[in-house]
Amino acid sequence: MARLTFLGTGTSQGVPMIGCDCNVCRSCDPKDKRLRSSVFVEYRGLDILVDAGPDFRQQMLRSGIRHIDAILLTHNHKDHTGGLDDVRAFNYIERAPIRIYCEKYVEDSLRNEYSYAFAEKRYPGVPEWQITNIDDRPFRVHANIPSVRLVWVEGKGYEKIPVTPESWSETRQRPVPEEAEIIPVRGRHYMLPVLGYRFGRIAYLTDMNFIPEEEFGKLRGLDHLIINCVRRGRHISHFSLEQAIEVAEKVGARQTYLTHLSHQLPRYEELCAELPPAIRPAYDGLVIESDDE
Ligand SMILES: [Zn+2]
Ligand SMILES: [Zn+2]
Ligand SMILES: [Zn+2]
Repeated sequence: MARLTFLGTGTSQGVPMIGCDCNVCRSCDPKDKRLRSSVFVEYRGLDILVDAGPDFRQQMLRSGIRHIDAILLTHNHKDHTGGLDDVRAFNYIERAPIRIYCEKYVEDSLRNEYSYAFAEKRYPGVPEWQITNIDDRPFRVHANIPSVRLVWVEGKGYEKIPVTPESWSETRQRPVPEEAEIIPVRGRHYMLPVLGYRFGRIAYLTDMNFIPEEEFGKLRGLDHLIINCVRRGRHISHFSLEQAIEVAEKVGARQTYLTHLSHQLPRYEELCAELPPAIRPAYDGLVIESDDE
């Protein structure tokens, strides 16, 4: 089973945008409040996060996420990587590095932007990442079960509790996770290569304005397609509303959700009204599920 939670569905500036008085930015509808784009996917017992933007901390707290087996990065833009320092909380509680899967150029970029996390003599308390390079071929993600977990005991402070796969599965009330195969989907974001990801019958594609013809084979038989769309009319690096609808119709998933939305699109309710029923705007907190593998 795959279960996907939208943690953020906004474009790089989020919605509302700082300093803007437009109709959408002033909307009182919670569905018009969009943190930066990221999704949490529970797939084959694994907890997988796609992208960790500047709202990462708030998204973890808001959704009550207490463990992550893997973070998959789509590309190196800050609205998708700006929260990676905050994985320190997971490092601290689980006494283990966080596993990150990304392309080589994305890792190079992290090495520049977060040089302190890669320094030979690292300052205590910097984020701990274990990076695996991937390309556009399917790859496997494994469970990252910690061997201990810090648990707060009132009046005493933190206690280190040993963790076994059995105790882990009991606390989380689900079977010991298996490994999962994930299919990357290649797209382009103006000049930049980006990766989307397919989990069973759900595919998450963001920050694209072009998908090579040969990649459409990876998108057959989907229950849910998630695709980015920033506004109406052409944009240099994102699908427009019109282009996203075109891709959605070509892929033919049972249901398509639009994400990475900006305030230049109508309010949620108005946008729903103008889209065909098989295409919906996503919103923060929306959960979708797919039973079939
Ligand atoms: Zn973005
Ligand atoms: Zn606005
Ligand atoms: Zn981007």
